[in-house]
Amino acid sequence: MTLTSKTAVITGSTSGIGLAIARAFAKEGANIVLNGLGDEAEIEKTRAGIETEFGVKAVYSPANMLKADEIEEMVRLGERSFGSVDILVNNAGIQFVSPVEDFPVEKWDQIIAINLTSAFHAIRAAVPGMKARGWGRIINTASAHSLVASPFKSAYVAAKHGIAGLTKTVALEVATHGITVNCISPGYVWTPLVERQIPDTMKARGLTKEQVINDVLLEAQPTKQFVTVDQVASLAVFLCSDAASQMSGANLSMDGGWTAK
Ligand code: NAD
Repeated sequence: MTLTSKTAVITGSTSGIGLAIARAFAKEGANIVLNGLGDEAEIEKTRAGIETEFGVKAVYSPANMLKADEIEEMVRLGERSFGSVDILVNNAGIQFVSPVEDFPVEKWDQIIAINLTSAFHAIRAAVPGMKARGWGRIINTASAHSLVASPFKSAYVAAKHGIAGLTKTVALEVATHGITVNCISPGYVWTPLVERQIPDTMKARGLTKEQVINDVLLEAQPTKQFVTVDQVASLAVFLCSDAASQMSGANLSMDGGWTAK
C-alpha cells in the first residue's frame, strides 16, 4: 500500500474513470473524498462499499463543479475530515456534440466551467495545504482531445486544450514544493460519457450506432480497442508514487496510439 495516511479528492468520482481512480487509491490505503452527481442512495452504496472493501474512510461531497464556493468547500471537507488533502484529481467532465454554429451557448459555458474552470477552483483551494506540508499530487483528467481535435466537439476540445495548459502552468509554479501536476490523456474509454454521446454523433454525422462505435470512435484508436477505466486508474496511482516524483507538467497519453498519427 503506497498511499496510507494520504487523502485524495477525486471530482466526478460517482461514475466511470473517477470512480475507478477512487477505488484504486482506496486500495492503496488513501482516504477518499468522493464527488459527483447521481442518485443519493447509489452514491451512499458506493461510498460505504469503498470503506468496507478497502478498510479506509470515504466521505461524499455533493459539490457542483459549476460553483466555485462548493468546489472550495469540497476541499475543506477533505481537510476537516482527514486533516489534509494530499492528492487532487480534477476529473469531472461532460461532453456535447454539435456543429459549432448550432452549439447551444449554455452548453459551451457548462463544458468550459465543468471541464476546465472547476480544476482551477479546486487547485487554488488545495495548493496552500500541499505547499505547507511539502507534498502533493495533482492529476487532471484531460483527453486525447487536449492534443488533437475532432469535429463537432468545439467546447470539449477547447476545454481539454485549456486543462493541458493549466497543468503545465501550475506544475511550474509549485515545482519546488514537492508537488507534481500532470494530466492523463485517455483516448476512448468505455464509460457512460462515451455511451451518451453516441446518439448525438449518430445525428450529427447521419450514422448508425455500430458505425459510430467502429468508424468514428475506434477508428481513431489504432489498437481498435477501448481503454479501460482500470488502466487509467493504474496510471493515476503510479503518478502518486515516489517513482513519479520527477514527473511534472507532463501530458500522458493512454490512447491506443491515437495521437501518434
Ligand atoms: P462519466 O460520465 O462516467 O463520469 C463523469 C463524472 O463527472 C460523473 O461522476 C458525474 O457525476 C460528474 N459530473 C458531471 N457534471 C458534474 C458537475 N456539474 N458537478 C460535479 N460532478 C459532475 O464520464 P467519464 O468518461 O468517466 O469521464 C471522466 C473524465 O474523463 C472527464 O473529464 C472526461 O472528459 C474524461 N475523458 C473521458 C474519456 C472517455 O472516453 N470516457 C476519454 C478522455 C477523457
